[in-house]
Amino acid sequence: MYTSIRAFILLLILMTPLSGTASTMSDRISHATAIHLNEQADSASARWDVPALSPALLLPAPPVTAARFSLEQSPLPFMESHNTGATFDIAWVASCATPPPEAVTALDYAAGLWGTWISSTVPIEVRACWKTDLGSGVLGTGIPIRYIRNFPNAPQVDTDYPSALANALSGSDLQPELGDIRLEFNANLTWSFATTTPGSGTDFVSVALHELAHGLGFIGNMYVDSQYKAGWCGDGPPGYYGPCPTPYDRLVVDSADIPLLDYQADRFALAARLLGDANSGGPNTRVANEGTAAKLNTPPSWQWGSSLSHLDLATFGEGDNRLMLPTYAVTRHPGPVTLAMFQDMGWLRADGVPNVTTTGPLVVGVEQPADFTGALVWPAYAGQPVTYTWSTAEHAPLVHPGRTLTDIATLTWSTPGEKVLTVTVTDGVPFGNGASVAGAVRRTLVFDVNVNGPAQGDTNRAYTFQAQVTPDSAGLPITYTWEATDQPVVVHPTQNMTDSRALTWTHPGSKTVTVTAAIAGSAVQRVHTIQIEGIVFDQFIYLPLVQRQ
Ligand SMILES: [Zn+2]
Repeated sequence: MYTSIRAFILLLILMTPLSGTASTMSDRISHATAIHLNEQADSASARWDVPALSPALLLPAPPVTAARFSLEQSPLPFMESHNTGATFDIAWVASCATPPPEAVTALDYAAGLWGTWISSTVPIEVRACWKTDLGSGVLGTGIPIRYIRNFPNAPQVDTDYPSALANALSGSDLQPELGDIRLEFNANLTWSFATTTPGSGTDFVSVALHELAHGLGFIGNMYVDSQYKAGWCGDGPPGYYGPCPTPYDRLVVDSADIPLLDYQADRFALAARLLGDANSGGPNTRVANEGTAAKLNTPPSWQWGSSLSHLDLATFGEGDNRLMLPTYAVTRHPGPVTLAMFQDMGWLRADGVPNVTTTGPLVVGVEQPADFTGALVWPAYAGQPVTYTWSTAEHAPLVHPGRTLTDIATLTWSTPGEKVLTVTVTDGVPFGNGASVAGAVRRTLVFDVNVNGPAQGDTNRAYTFQAQVTPDSAGLPITYTWEATDQPVVVHPTQNMTDSRALTWTHPGSKTVTVTAAIAGSAVQRVHTIQIEGIVFDQFIYLPLVQRQ
């Protein structure tokens, strides 16, 4: 229900190439199909050297505002016509240095390329800074300006979406007063601003594409602190506070396919994986990466701005997926793995591959049936029957063959907790771009309410009953409705996970205390029974008497 705009201090950095130690460069270039190096170019401009570490830079916190969203009035899901690309509104920050006109043109060009790979009906607002004091080793930086969670049509509950993605998913500018992406470029470098073909000098378009990717959501906010060597997600010691988990964080698994976020109860186990075993394992990424999760950059010591939020250099250093390496690479395309990761985060791709979009409740009560819809968004779709497969905890996979553009799955969970729902769509033959299947991931909070109180009591005495919602609703408002025998109805909206009520009965008998907890339009009801005995006073004796026919 609430937006979260928080201080965010991690910058994702690209380092300037270092001279020397480029012995394997020519060999690598020969294998890099997506590279378009000018043969006359200064070879230093394309070196892959692993750079020296740069300290993390700090950004002041953006102004904090809050907005309420109604989860009960979600807009319609993506329409087919919506995967037609995205537009960027780029503003160069006046308080920074004045960029050369070529930089302005080149950033427009890079943003235009991203606009052909992903879709949003909401223009993506970029704040770019031509920076004279960025640090000698830094080419540029890129971050989301703000994150938003639990907005209308969010696929995953309690997940901090970069605002550009949140806007795209909801189909509206959720916080129009703020921009989406902050970019910085080092004003002191010898850049090449060439657009269609890289020239000599550091290739600005490659760097811009890389930093835009971070700002669009290619960013993990889990981290390892230097003092305790422990792993954290949004709850670490002072000095870092990034919204977490992002959609990117949600996708990270270890070699055993266990989500890293599942290790939060064991900080050292989480740290161990952030320092050596982190892979992006969404359904589309696995399809694009020969069936396996994509290995992320996990050096053995935590590197701010580099660890987790890039692809592994050894794995992807020579292929088509070099844009998001931790070190500078000249390339004009993210590659299929990186774009699949964007798709797994929730971006609708505009480059012709099949997409799956979903709708459904973010929050639902236990034992309450909920409808989820899946939709195939694929320009090349020719009407052939396709199969939707829905997978989630507590259920055998639901396989729905013979469908076309949409499908509905009605699901009911009997235990509280966050439930991951994966839907995949295939027509049985390879989809476009080599993919045989497309998928999407949702995450729904299933809640329950329990009512506790005495089972027996006496007339004219107050008894306290407590209702408790599980699990933590993460700040979503809860409305408790109390209905009890011989008592007025009480409706109590609150943010609290517990609510209580003291009740007194004047007449004996079996009394029921019914609590209905409602979150985001879904309700769970539980009944507690108390047997009230009559107390002997001077004049009256009440005997509990129940006759059943
Ligand atoms: Zn980066």
